[in-house]
Amino acid sequence: MAFLQSHSLLFLLLLVLSLLCSLSSQTVLGAFGSTRIRNELGPLLSQGCNIIDEASGNLTEATRRWQLFASPNFDAVVQVNNEADIIQTIKYANKYSIPYLAFNTGHGEIKSLGNLRAGIQITIRGMSNITINGNNTATVQGGATNLDIVSTLWKANKQTVSGTCECVGFMGPVLGGGHGFLQGYHGMAADQLLEARVVLANGTVAIASRNQNADLFWALRGAGHNFGIVTEVTTKIYDVPKNDTWYYETFVYSGSSVEMLFTELNNLKGAPAAFEHYAVYLRLPDVDPSNAVVLFSILYHGLATDAEQYVAPFRKFNPLSDTNGTATYPQLAAITGNGINDDICQNENSNRIRYPVYLDRYDPKAQKAVFDNFNMTTARYPALNASLMLFEGLSTQAVAATPINSTAFPYRNYFALSSPVVTYAPNTSFDATAQNFGRSLRSTLYQTSNTSNLRAYVNYAVGEESLQNLYGSEPWRVTKLKGLKQTYDPQNRFRWYAPIGL
Ligand SMILES: Cc1cc2nc3c(=O)[nH]c(=O)nc-3n(C[C@H](O)[C@H](O)[C@H](O)COP(=O)(O)OP(=O)(O)OC[C@H]3O[C@@H](n4cnc5c(N)ncnc54)[C@H](O)[C@@H]3O)c2cc1C
Repeated sequence: MAFLQSHSLLFLLLLVLSLLCSLSSQTVLGAFGSTRIRNELGPLLSQGCNIIDEASGNLTEATRRWQLFASPNFDAVVQVNNEADIIQTIKYANKYSIPYLAFNTGHGEIKSLGNLRAGIQITIRGMSNITINGNNTATVQGGATNLDIVSTLWKANKQTVSGTCECVGFMGPVLGGGHGFLQGYHGMAADQLLEARVVLANGTVAIASRNQNADLFWALRGAGHNFGIVTEVTTKIYDVPKNDTWYYETFVYSGSSVEMLFTELNNLKGAPAAFEHYAVYLRLPDVDPSNAVVLFSILYHGLATDAEQYVAPFRKFNPLSDTNGTATYPQLAAITGNGINDDICQNENSNRIRYPVYLDRYDPKAQKAVFDNFNMTTARYPALNASLMLFEGLSTQAVAATPINSTAFPYRNYFALSSPVVTYAPNTSFDATAQNFGRSLRSTLYQTSNTSNLRAYVNYAVGEESLQNLYGSEPWRVTKLKGLKQTYDPQNRFRWYAPIGL
């Protein structure tokens, strides 16, 4: 009996020991401890490469994001200096099954990011060099921002397609396609890429271009968040045209002008690439303390006299205000409220959730219904009154002219990109109301869009969309992407941003 008892005790002990062993090889980071990451990974990194964790302080600041809804959660932040730091971090994290995510400026907002818990944030912002090469190309590191690229190129009398908002990363938009002011002339920001260097999930570096790993190169331009960390790209750049100038005119309208405004915009579908527009439903209490208004801007790449034929009709729709001026290309960000000092570029401890849908034309009645919904709901729930309803009418000629199958970005034929930005102070008991607001605004627009697939821009997606919504409805697209995941990320390490899955 005593023998039996000691035998089963021994068995129990062995069982516990083997369980402990398997736990330590799987690694639950909470038990692992973030200081251990610093102690073990730190010596493998370049001099000055910083690791931030709870014990070192500043973890909250180092992981601060543009918005808070469904944020990922990190035990440690590695502020990398170079590609080798990224490789070491990925290899280390893989060894202990610690999840990781590239972080540049923290504007990523899709819900799936919130699935990442107890991970390592790989902050690439320190890698922001931009080199202008002789052949109208530039080499841009993965941590550059739109402001970095616009200002650096401008000093050399060059420009390229990049996202419109100065504080947003350059690569983040590119990986999902990348909409920008110059897309009507040159295509999406992703269409400018000639080559990319990518650290893959296994810690090796792949060069992706039309000639090398062409399938990866295809995937990076539209579904890129799923395939690795891009350390550097070579992108096309362009000479700034002689006597380059932009004319802009900005109107504020009350809701009663909405149908006239969007009817007229439909008439301008065939306008040249020089004509672009933005419309925003929002609350401006100084202008109208009771009701939402429409802020509407026309950007015209050229002289005021040439813009006149496109702008004149909008002066007849009873604007509450009408301002105009001329600008250089780098000034467009500030003129459209996308400048580094504008509200949109401040991390305000708010939840900000988007529900994007591409539109082929505006349905004036739906536009009015959406305005009324926006107006009523933001009046009923003052917590929502910093929300926006955006309609981005950047010109699309060169986007549409680029072969539709040439990149993973699937939506080249559209007129405007709409998205509510539902904004409110974090409050879980209010989440359902806020989300239903965003869903209802998008649903009204989608129902009039005459497409069987909801076409959602992956970089604005909320995370409720299907893979077909994000990556295209042609069945081969998602099949191809899943196949490429098997090749380049068979363990699905990059599964946090709009995950394709295996
Ligand atoms: C205020 C605002 C303005 C915007 N304006 C535009 C616009 O004009 N045009 C447009 O197309 N989009 C725009 N977007 C959407 C934008 O494309 C996405 O939010 C994008 O994810 C932001 O990238 P980031 O690097 O700034 O943010 P981050 O949160 O740092 O990155 C977002 C995700 O991108 C991936 N990522 C970033 N850099 C790399 C890299 N080097 N290698 C691998 N993965 C990387 C990671 O998965 C990361 O989670 C805007 C968004 C906001 C909030």
